[in-house]
Amino acid sequence: MYTVTKRVEISSAHSLRLPYESKCRNLHGHNWIIDVTCQSETLNEDGMVLDFVKIKEIVGKLDHANINEILGNGINPTAENIAKWICDRVPLCVKVSVQESEGNTAIYERI
Ligand SMILES: [Zn+2]
Repeated sequence: MYTVTKRVEISSAHSLRLPYESKCRNLHGHNWIIDVTCQSETLNEDGMVLDFVKIKEIVGKLDHANINEILGNGINPTAENIAKWICDRVPLCVKVSVQESEGNTAIYERI
């Protein structure tokens, strides 16, 4: 099994829909550190699981953006939901780690 992990750092904003009082309900920004892991038992014709550029391209859609608008469809843009959104779009993705701030990380994994 081949595994590749790409780290992408982005700056973007979100606001959370929460049924309780929280500063997170206000639009605010983070410098997100996102690690995307892809796996494949075979390599493509270029000798890769996939080109790292492809991962950066997809995660880059969230850079300097309001993540609420990108995720859309009523998805609450928590770090957990952002991790799943990315995993659903990157080919061969098995794991996405989204660090929203030092010590606060959410992970989505396909098991
Ligand atoms: Zn936040």
